[in-house]
Amino acid sequence: EIDIPESHPRYESLLTRHRIEAGVEKGITSKQGLIAQGRGEAFDYLLGEETTPSAKRAERAAAAQLLLAEKPVLSVNGNVAALVPGEMVELADATDADIEVNLFNRTRKRMVAIADHLQEHGATEVKGLAADARIPGLDHERAKVDEDGIYAADVVLVPLEDGDRAQALAEMGTSEIVIDLNPRSRSTQHATVPIVDNIIRAIPNITEHARELADSGHEQLEQCLKEFDAADALDNAEQTIRQGDLS
Ligand code: ATP
Ligand code: MG
Repeated sequence: EIDIPESHPRYESLLTRHRIEAGVEKGITSKQGLIAQGRGEAFDYLLGEETTPSAKRAERAAAAQLLLAEKPVLSVNGNVAALVPGEMVELADATDADIEVNLFNRTRKRMVAIADHLQEHGATEVKGLAADARIPGLDHERAKVDEDGIYAADVVLVPLEDGDRAQALAEMGTSEIVIDLNPRSRSTQHATVPIVDNIIRAIPNITEHARELADSGHEQLEQCLKEFDAADALDNAEQTIRQGDLS
């Protein structure tokens, strides 16, 4: 780890960059992942680098949906593994979800490196290596998922997913919780619960809500989900960006 003074005004952003860089060095994150991070940072800057009240509500709805799910799966790619490995494991524990590695630029080597990395952070089982099912409507490599994982899931949390796959999953009837800082991306547009927030903040927030909601009844969770309006959430995020001051 490098030394960044916590007082630095861009502390979080610098730490994030460093984690992504380390991810590339470790063979976990692809070079494309660096570009995706840059794209995300631009939006985060415009959103004031904090969780908006609207995103907070989305994170609560996401926790409710994960707790209601029969078979929830958390999808992990190279950026997610570099940024929040331990946090993903904690969320999986809090919601009784499976973790599956799911890569845009899929190589066996990177799949294994990510699975190992997650295990180093406490994951007991990591799916994705079986790749014995296909999401319909995608080209061969990008369609690969585990039959007893994402393929069978009723709710999938897909942080930083690419638009094509988010759409193909939605067409399969899977409910998607998408974390993506771009409120206009195709991924957020196809989500049942779009979370426009940095994954660094979003994952611990969802976990916190899940712990709070753990003892709630089915009806209360349904209510929490029903109160959430996806179109509204995206609209709020866009308004925040448009009205933000760029100091
Ligand atoms: P589309 O969804 O429109 O098809 P894409 O999926 O091809 O676009 P990418 O650049 O591959 O676009 O996806 C990266 C997405 O992830 C961007 O929308 C970016 O805002 C988002 N992103 C990157 N880093 C983070 C982060 N740390 N937290 C949340 N979102 C992030
Ligand atoms: Mg996208």
